[in-house]
Amino acid sequence: MSGRLAVVGLGPGDPRWLTPEAEAALGSAAALYGYGPYLDRIPQRSGQVRHASDNREEGARAAAALRHAAGGAEVAVVSGGDPGVFAMAAAVCAEIETGPPEWRDIELAVIPGITAMLAVAAQVGAPLGHDFCALSLSDNLKPWEAIERRLDAAAGAGFVIALYNPVSRARPWQLAAAFERLGRHLPATAPVIFGRAVGRIGERIAVTRLSAARETAAEIGADMATLVIVGSPETRVIERAGRRPLVYTPRAAAGANL
Ligand code: SAH
Repeated sequence: MSGRLAVVGLGPGDPRWLTPEAEAALGSAAALYGYGPYLDRIPQRSGQVRHASDNREEGARAAAALRHAAGGAEVAVVSGGDPGVFAMAAAVCAEIETGPPEWRDIELAVIPGITAMLAVAAQVGAPLGHDFCALSLSDNLKPWEAIERRLDAAAGAGFVIALYNPVSRARPWQLAAAFERLGRHLPATAPVIFGRAVGRIGERIAVTRLSAARETAAEIGADMATLVIVGSPETRVIERAGRRPLVYTPRAAAGANL
């Protein structure tokens, strides 16, 4: 008997950013698995069991949910933002690849959510209006040298860059090192956007320039709940009296064949 496993994206935090599909999957699951603070965002339902686990236990959490679903139950694993972006959907797939053959019979549904970079971008205009890429700055799951190589390649190729996992207690220096690295390719005036706890209590947005990004990170208290967008040389800032500046990357790149 094989059940159903939904890997559900909760969005950045604001309940208005939870899709109807995600809401339905959370409503029909017999059990929810996830990082405690994400589970805390979901209204309690009688008869629904919750299994909270630590953020570093992704593989074990995915395996526990798969074992449960393999017994015939409808189970949901939750992720902040989108489950496919630096999150649980890949952890579930990895467990299916290496786990018992019967896990391949489980009906798997990956239910998308609004990822942090889209929520942050929307607060300031359209910084992702042209080509962009996303990088995790966490060197827990890859060597720092790989991060440096990717920062060089992305900035050198003119991408706008969204930085996930910029800072944590265990990784205090990486963000400043990334700004230094990007400064080798980008002008000091390249726009930098910080979005902290977007859609949640304590939300903060800051727009600055690469030359001042380190100071702004300290001022707004950049942390694990912060996403950083570093503009390309084409990204523009429109100042507005009494309002947050608008940041956008034009639809057409320099040299476009218009
Ligand atoms: N699956 C998530 C990302 C997980 S990695 C998603 O799609 O958004 C965790 C990182 O996401 C954090 O370190 C931060 O960079 C970013 N993040 C998640 N929620 C956020 C929020 N509400 N505001 C700003 N950044 C957020």
